[in-house]
Amino acid sequence: MMHDVLVAGAGPAGAVAATLLARRGLRVVLADGVDPARHKIGEHLAAAAVNLLHRLRIDFRPDRHVRVGGVLSSWGSDQLIAIDSINDPQGPGLLLDRTAFDAALRANAIAAGAEFRSANVVRVSRGAGWNALLRDGSAVSARWLVDATGRRALLAKHLGIARRRDARVAAVYRVGANDGPRLDRTMIEATPHGWWYAAHLPDGRSIAGFHLAIDDAPGFAKQPDAWSHALNETIHIRTRFPPARFATRLAPIEAGGACLARFSGEGWLACGDAALSFDPVSGQGMLAAIHHGALASDCIAEALDGETAALDEYSGRLDHLRKVYSRRHREVYLRERRWRSMPFWSSCIRPLEQIA
Ligand SMILES: Cc1cc2nc3c(=O)[nH]c(=O)nc-3n(C[C@H](O)[C@H](O)[C@H](O)COP(=O)(O)OP(=O)(O)OC[C@H]3O[C@@H](n4cnc5c(N)ncnc54)[C@H](O)[C@@H]3O)c2cc1C
Repeated sequence: MMHDVLVAGAGPAGAVAATLLARRGLRVVLADGVDPARHKIGEHLAAAAVNLLHRLRIDFRPDRHVRVGGVLSSWGSDQLIAIDSINDPQGPGLLLDRTAFDAALRANAIAAGAEFRSANVVRVSRGAGWNALLRDGSAVSARWLVDATGRRALLAKHLGIARRRDARVAAVYRVGANDGPRLDRTMIEATPHGWWYAAHLPDGRSIAGFHLAIDDAPGFAKQPDAWSHALNETIHIRTRFPPARFATRLAPIEAGGACLARFSGEGWLACGDAALSFDPVSGQGMLAAIHHGALASDCIAEALDGETAALDEYSGRLDHLRKVYSRRHREVYLRERRWRSMPFWSSCIRPLEQIA
């Protein structure tokens, strides 16, 4: 049977796209092997993303996540500045139980009529439409293909589309118990070799991550003392998140921004991190993924109705988002003047267009 759309990847971008496409009455397959070993950080969901999900009538189980009262940030000076959610017209953001969040988004797609296949797409080829082979040996044919496979950008790889990476940033995270009082804020602190993020997860555990040059990441990940030592050198975070708490090491992950050379073509498009990835300092990755998922659904529905300009319009919107992100990303890193000559900070302030 020829489906209308195969969505590869059921993270926020793919699940939102599949939900909205299925609600339009299209025959949608959503495929994702949902690797339980893949760690989920427990991201901060910006208030704008919370509001967007409400507007799209997508249930993300708000009861499973916790409200964030704001950010405590030491960036550009040793001072710790509080930015309160109460002053944000969008309201508070949420600290996610990411596994529950992704499961809730998938459930929306299934409830809307999408067929969920719990297997990754391993190969795609073109015939009358797209023919895809899934990891479980099954096949799917569809007129449209959506690449929502996150930073792996499966389809882009198959089509030979370049994925340009910005400053080479990685993140080395650890999780641990919390025996102190719960902090209802996230913390960010700049240091000479990178910046730290720490928070209390909805289940009460602590999480802390060091964002640093990709070449330094394996050393910090393999030598337990190096990570703890670096955390111990922070001024503020170590007082709330002492290094001794963090027993569980997570594998280092790529965390820099990246962008596909093309976002769409005949019968396909990429959305979410597969199309555009963001440095986590922006705090916008999930918002962008949800927004792209909604744009992707509009674009495909219009293209199926014969609107020839739909793909150009979609790509134009993503180009615009990339430009806005590039400018803001640089502004944020320029605000930290203390270590501009250090390799991490000098690589992050280069204009993104100049990075080959
Ligand atoms: C260290 C770090 C911290 C971050 N912190 C924040 C934060 O605080 N706030 C925020 O908003 N954003 C944050 N982000 C960004 C955020 O995690 C991503 O932008 C968001 O998850 C992107 O959603 P997505 O649906 O595009 O991709 P993903 O969430 O990566 O989902 C992709 C899905 O595709 C599936 N998949 C992979 N390969 C295949 C395949 N071959 N076939 C089928 N399925 C496949 C995967 O299993 C996965 O479920 C952070 C990112 C990093 C790296």
